[in-house]
Amino acid sequence: MAAIDGLPPLRDVITRHGLDAKKALGQNFLLDLNLTQKIARTAGPLEDVTVIEVGPGPGGLTRAILSLGAKKVIAIERDSRCLPALAEISDFYPGRLKVIEGDALKTPFEDLVTEGPVKIIANLPYNVGTQLLVNWLLPEAWPPFYQSMTLMFQREVGLRIVADADDDHYGRLGVLCGWRTNARMAFDVSPQAFSPPPKVTSSVVHLEPIENPIPCSAADLEKVTMAAFGQRRKMLRQSVKSIGGEALLARAEIDPKRRAETLSVEEFCRLANCL
Ligand code: SAM
Repeated sequence: MAAIDGLPPLRDVITRHGLDAKKALGQNFLLDLNLTQKIARTAGPLEDVTVIEVGPGPGGLTRAILSLGAKKVIAIERDSRCLPALAEISDFYPGRLKVIEGDALKTPFEDLVTEGPVKIIANLPYNVGTQLLVNWLLPEAWPPFYQSMTLMFQREVGLRIVADADDDHYGRLGVLCGWRTNARMAFDVSPQAFSPPPKVTSSVVHLEPIENPIPCSAADLEKVTMAAFGQRRKMLRQSVKSIGGEALLARAEIDPKRRAETLSVEEFCRLANCL
């Protein structure tokens, strides 16, 4: 395995700092720095870019991002045991890595960055990954503070993110992502790439914000997707009964006999705008 920097191998870093993986923190560490570089490269050129990384852990992805020339990395890590390992990376790349100890779900990301452009790159902890993505997708102001998101999820979640109408994985996440971003599946990562190996395959997904999405209230879109997909096998006249039923569907000119999974993102926006 070729070295990407002059720092020690990740396996040594993990042993030396006693970073036994904690399941409760979704800790599955990537040890192959060529693979972490492949993830970082998916985000495109990084020179002059400030990267936000959630959950750097022992720093495998952080090192890849820095080695590819990112101007700055701001990394939010909840596990204080990782901080000494991350401090060694910070010493190796003076002035380019800022580590914040804290919970990403409570972090005001827009306020962290003073210079752009910003890209988000992360191997997300599975227990909070989807919630973080939804938070980044639904700010009031749009376009958002970031230029792109390159994120690793369980493959199942990745499929839901990129799903279109009539796809088995299409649901609330596919509608929200399809409304405000262009999302694509980049590549899969096998469980063996991690320590410890998770039970399922992971996928790297790349999302870029659409500058002018269909005008629609995020809260109303959430309401209609939650109702419609809450009973996804039922006809819409049944599943959206609690938010307006047949009258709502008539206003939006949508056949009440259709099912949620057949509606395009544009039709969901129309439904939300008729609420
Ligand atoms: N980036 C490293 C890698 O690729 O090897 C570690 C990825 S591991 C899947 C997820 C990381 O997120 C862990 O380091 C974990 O401690 C951290 N983490 C878990 N929950 C977090 C939260 N709410 N906020 C910030 N970091 C969190």
